[in-house]
Amino acid sequence: MAGIRAKDTKPELTIRKALFASGFRFRLHNRKLPGSPDIVLAKHHVAIFVHGCFWHLHHNCKLSKIPATRTDFWAKKLTANTTRDTQATDQLLALGWRVLVVWECHIRANRNCSELQQQLTQWIHDHDSFGQLPDHPKSKTDQGIQASSVPD
Ligand SMILES: [Zn+2]
Repeated sequence: MAGIRAKDTKPELTIRKALFASGFRFRLHNRKLPGSPDIVLAKHHVAIFVHGCFWHLHHNCKLSKIPATRTDFWAKKLTANTTRDTQATDQLLALGWRVLVVWECHIRANRNCSELQQQLTQWIHDHDSFGQLPDHPKSKTDQGIQASSVPD
Protein backbone atom coordinates (compact mmCIF):
# COMPACT_ATOMS: atom_id res chain seq x y z
CA MET A 1 0.00 0.00 0.00
CA ALA A 2 2.84 2.37 0.74
CA GLY A 3 4.01 4.61 -2.03
CA ILE A 4 0.85 4.39 -4.07
CA ARG A 5 -0.42 7.74 -3.18
CA ALA A 6 1.53 10.80 -2.36
CA LYS A 7 0.86 12.18 1.06
CA ASP A 8 -0.22 15.72 1.62
CA THR A 9 -1.17 16.28 -1.97
CA LYS A 10 -2.73 19.60 -2.88
CA PRO A 11 -6.27 18.26 -3.31
CA GLU A 12 -6.01 16.66 0.09
CA LEU A 13 -4.87 19.90 1.66
CA THR A 14 -7.87 21.63 0.11
CA ILE A 15 -10.24 19.13 1.69
CA ARG A 16 -8.51 19.40 5.04
CA LYS A 17 -8.82 23.16 4.93
CA ALA A 18 -12.49 22.98 4.03
CA LEU A 19 -13.23 20.52 6.83
CA PHE A 20 -11.25 22.48 9.37
CA ALA A 21 -13.01 25.70 8.39
CA SER A 22 -16.32 23.93 8.96
CA GLY A 23 -15.28 23.03 12.49
CA PHE A 24 -14.49 19.36 11.91
CA ARG A 25 -11.51 17.81 13.61
CA PHE A 26 -9.79 14.80 12.15
CA ARG A 27 -6.81 12.51 12.01
CA LEU A 28 -4.68 11.89 8.95
CA HIS A 29 -3.56 8.65 7.30
CA ASN A 30 -4.81 6.31 9.94
CA ARG A 31 -2.88 3.12 9.32
CA LYS A 32 -4.93 1.18 11.80
CA LEU A 33 -7.89 1.29 9.46
CA PRO A 34 -8.24 -0.60 6.17
CA GLY A 35 -6.71 1.38 3.33
CA SER A 36 -5.21 3.99 5.68
CA PRO A 37 -7.90 6.58 4.99
CA ASP A 38 -6.50 10.02 4.20
CA ILE A 39 -8.78 11.75 6.66
CA VAL A 40 -10.67 10.21 9.57
CA LEU A 41 -13.40 11.99 11.49
CA ALA A 42 -13.66 9.70 14.48
CA LYS A 43 -16.50 11.61 16.08
CA HIS A 44 -18.67 11.09 13.01
CA HIS A 45 -17.30 7.69 12.17
CA VAL A 46 -16.38 8.94 8.73
CA ALA A 47 -13.36 7.92 6.66
CA ILE A 48 -12.46 10.09 3.68
CA PHE A 49 -10.28 9.16 0.74
CA VAL A 50 -8.99 11.87 -1.55
CA HIS A 51 -8.30 10.11 -4.81
CA GLY A 52 -6.15 11.24 -7.67
CA CYS A 53 -8.18 10.51 -10.81
CA PHE A 54 -5.21 9.02 -12.65
CA TRP A 55 -4.03 6.74 -9.86
CA HIS A 56 -7.45 5.46 -8.98
CA LEU A 57 -8.92 5.20 -12.48
CA HIS A 58 -11.78 7.60 -12.03
CA HIS A 59 -14.58 6.33 -14.24
CA ASN A 60 -15.60 8.65 -17.10
CA CYS A 61 -13.10 11.27 -16.04
CA LYS A 62 -10.85 13.09 -18.45
CA LEU A 63 -8.01 13.13 -15.93
CA SER A 64 -8.08 9.36 -15.89
CA LYS A 65 -6.41 7.71 -18.81
CA ILE A 66 -4.18 4.69 -19.11
CA PRO A 67 -0.91 5.85 -20.70
CA ALA A 68 -0.27 4.88 -24.31
CA THR A 69 3.19 3.57 -23.48
CA ARG A 70 3.71 0.57 -21.22
CA THR A 71 -0.02 0.18 -21.35
CA ASP A 72 -0.08 -3.29 -19.83
CA PHE A 73 2.04 -2.22 -16.91
CA TRP A 74 -0.17 0.74 -16.17
CA ALA A 75 -3.40 -1.11 -16.69
CA LYS A 76 -2.33 -3.73 -14.17
CA LYS A 77 -1.02 -1.25 -11.67
CA LEU A 78 -4.01 1.06 -11.79
CA THR A 79 -6.50 -1.77 -11.72
CA ALA A 80 -4.74 -3.15 -8.66
CA ASN A 81 -5.19 0.24 -7.02
CA THR A 82 -8.92 0.24 -7.65
CA THR A 83 -9.20 -3.32 -6.36
CA ARG A 84 -7.52 -2.27 -3.15
CA ASP A 85 -9.79 0.76 -2.94
CA THR A 86 -12.86 -1.42 -3.21
CA GLN A 87 -11.57 -3.84 -0.60
CA ALA A 88 -10.70 -1.06 1.82
CA THR A 89 -14.14 0.49 1.38
CA ASP A 90 -15.89 -2.83 1.94
CA GLN A 91 -13.87 -3.50 5.05
CA LEU A 92 -14.49 -0.05 6.46
CA LEU A 93 -18.22 -0.33 5.82
CA ALA A 94 -18.22 -3.74 7.48
CA LEU A 95 -16.55 -2.16 10.52
CA GLY A 96 -19.31 0.40 10.70
CA TRP A 97 -17.44 3.31 9.17
CA ARG A 98 -18.98 5.61 6.60
CA VAL A 99 -16.83 6.20 3.55
CA LEU A 100 -16.59 9.26 1.36
CA VAL A 101 -14.41 9.38 -1.74
CA VAL A 102 -13.52 12.84 -2.98
CA TRP A 103 -12.03 12.88 -6.45
CA GLU A 104 -9.27 15.21 -7.54
CA CYS A 105 -11.29 16.54 -10.50
CA HIS A 106 -14.09 17.59 -8.18
CA ILE A 107 -11.71 19.52 -6.01
CA ARG A 108 -10.16 21.17 -9.05
CA ALA A 109 -13.60 22.14 -10.31
CA ASN A 110 -14.65 23.53 -6.93
CA ARG A 111 -11.90 25.85 -5.89
CA ASN A 112 -14.46 27.86 -4.03
CA CYS A 113 -13.82 26.58 -0.55
CA SER A 114 -17.23 27.46 0.85
CA GLU A 115 -18.96 25.26 -1.70
CA LEU A 116 -16.76 22.33 -0.81
CA GLN A 117 -17.39 23.01 2.84
CA GLN A 118 -21.10 22.90 2.24
CA GLN A 119 -20.94 19.63 0.30
CA LEU A 120 -18.73 17.95 2.86
CA THR A 121 -20.78 19.15 5.79
CA GLN A 122 -23.96 18.01 4.12
CA TRP A 123 -22.60 14.56 3.41
CA ILE A 124 -21.26 14.12 6.91
CA HIS A 125 -24.64 15.06 8.38
CA ASP A 126 -26.63 12.99 5.90
CA HIS A 127 -25.57 9.66 7.41
CA ASP A 128 -25.16 7.87 4.09
CA SER A 129 -22.81 4.95 4.44
CA PHE A 130 -21.03 5.57 1.15
CA GLY A 131 -20.67 8.58 -1.07
CA GLN A 132 -18.56 10.19 -3.74
CA LEU A 133 -17.87 13.69 -4.88
CA PRO A 134 -18.71 14.24 -7.68
CA ASP A 135 -21.76 12.13 -7.14
CA HIS A 136 -22.36 11.09 -10.73
CA PRO A 137 -24.59 8.26 -11.79
CA LYS A 138 -22.97 5.33 -13.54
CA SER A 139 -24.21 6.34 -16.95
CA LYS A 140 -22.54 5.56 -20.22
CA THR A 141 -22.56 9.08 -21.50
CA ASP A 142 -19.37 11.04 -21.70
CA GLN A 143 -20.68 13.77 -19.54
CA GLY A 144 -17.28 14.51 -18.10
CA ILE A 145 -16.81 16.37 -14.88
CA GLN A 146 -19.30 19.16 -15.42
CA ALA A 147 -22.35 17.05 -14.77
CA SER A 148 -22.53 17.49 -11.04
CA SER A 149 -25.99 17.98 -9.66
CA VAL A 150 -27.36 21.44 -9.14
CA PRO A 151 -28.33 22.20 -5.56
CA ASP A 152 -31.71 23.78 -4.88
ZN1 LIG B 1 -11.92 12.56 -11.88
